Amino acid sequence: MHPYQVKIGTQVKLSEIDPNDQSLFPKLTKKNYFKALEKLNTQLESLQELLFAQGKHRVLVVLQAMDTAGKDGTIRSVFDGVNPLGVKVASFKKPTPDELAHDYLWRVHPYVPGNGELVIFNRSHYEDVLVVRVHNLVPPEKWSKRYEHINAFEEMLVDEGTTILKFFLHIDKDEQKARLEERLKEPSKQWKFAVGDLDERKRWDDYMQAYEAVLEKTSKKHAPWFIIPANRKWYRNLVISQILVDTLTSLNMEYPAPAPGLENIVVE
Ligand code: AMP
Ligand code: MG
Repeated sequence: MHPYQVKIGTQVKLSEIDPNDQSLFPKLTKKNYFKALEKLNTQLESLQELLFAQGKHRVLVVLQAMDTAGKDGTIRSVFDGVNPLGVKVASFKKPTPDELAHDYLWRVHPYVPGNGELVIFNRSHYEDVLVVRVHNLVPPEKWSKRYEHINAFEEMLVDEGTTILKFFLHIDKDEQKARLEERLKEPSKQWKFAVGDLDERKRWDDYMQAYEAVLEKTSKKHAPWFIIPANRKWYRNLVISQILVDTLTSLNMEYPAPAPGLENIVVE
């Protein structure tokens, strides 16, 4: 089992998990980082092409994290060079009135991957036990039942042929402060600064508690959570890329057999 995979049935204490850990790629120079990431990008590119060509497997990647922890940056770096034809990103924002008029999985289901597709969820149905729980957007009797719904929903997706990987990008509060300050002063990043993020920051401890519940209750063999040390962006990118490459490799995919008689065709 991967060292960052959350073991089923264990207690998770995020304050005891080091967001600066670099034990899987120790002492990497900047130059070697770029080389290593490029190699993984190339491998992922080939694997994704095979996934698409074979059209058999479906892959869902869930990204969850606090503001500034690097969901967008992960998508940009890890999927650099991958053919956009076979990859989709679905971002889940504050629900619309129409979405709120339905059950919370209603807006999610249409975006799950089909045969040969790889879909990245930038936030996900987990918001419905995270922000919703922290802000009491629905009563506890309601959100507390959702872990089981989510497990059942994901199990159904897996039974129907989906591979699910879930990544929690783990940064600490100091790192978030530095990144928010960077957003404030850097003109090209100011658009990302949302005043509401400061309110969320005040609820850091509540969020950690809500995340711990998610990681404890919804990491399953069929749909594991990984806690990715994410204070260092390069490390986060390498670890996630490697997990994706290893997982896709383990699917033992093959290009489909050519149509019968193809060997006799002459293109004039
Ligand atoms: P961002 O990903 O930075 O564009 O922000 C999206 C915002 O939408 C975040 O503050 C999320 O917490 C919020 N959001 C996403 N899903 C939900 C949900 N189900 N209920 C309430 N807020 C949500
Ligand atoms: Mg934001």
